[in-house]
Amino acid sequence: MGAVAPRSAWSPNFDAQKEGTGCPMCADGGNRNDFGARFRHGRWTDAYLGRRPVRPGYAYVVWTGPHVAEPTELDPHEAAGFWAEVAIAASAIEARYRPRKMNWMSLGNGVPHLHVHLVPRHDDDPDAGGPVEAEAFDAASVTPLDDAVLESEVAALRRLVDGGSSSTTPSSPH
Ligand SMILES: [Zn+2]
Repeated sequence: MGAVAPRSAWSPNFDAQKEGTGCPMCADGGNRNDFGARFRHGRWTDAYLGRRPVRPGYAYVVWTGPHVAEPTELDPHEAAGFWAEVAIAASAIEARYRPRKMNWMSLGNGVPHLHVHLVPRHDDDPDAGGPVEAEAFDAASVTPLDDAVLESEVAALRRLVDGGSSSTTPSSPH
């Protein structure tokens, strides 16, 4: 077998960032307006709607506790909280965008701070039946949502994750 020509490389700072040194998500909590807009602030996580939709309804959920790169670094209590909050965000995305399948992608190859990409896969998905192509995560290849759309979608998602808690009427289980 001949050597495979590399298409990309690990960041020179990758190992340091994986340990938490110079981690951009620890610095800003993932809260950068050019990446997305937050629709939920939880006990363990913040959830954002992505400005550059990998697929329509693309969101991501960022661990907001002390730096970890992998889910295996969480203790069982933290892990339960983390995944439960990812599910809250995913449920809101499912309710709003009605995908045929939701993909939960814990990657961290670019920024090794624990986060999960929520990628709705729709009926007309160009890669239906298989994984999302890597190029979908290339910011330059995806047309960004404009501010008005991002804000209105985030407002709709907030109503879903709040479950009506912003009103005086308690939400009922269903
Ligand atoms: Zn970090």
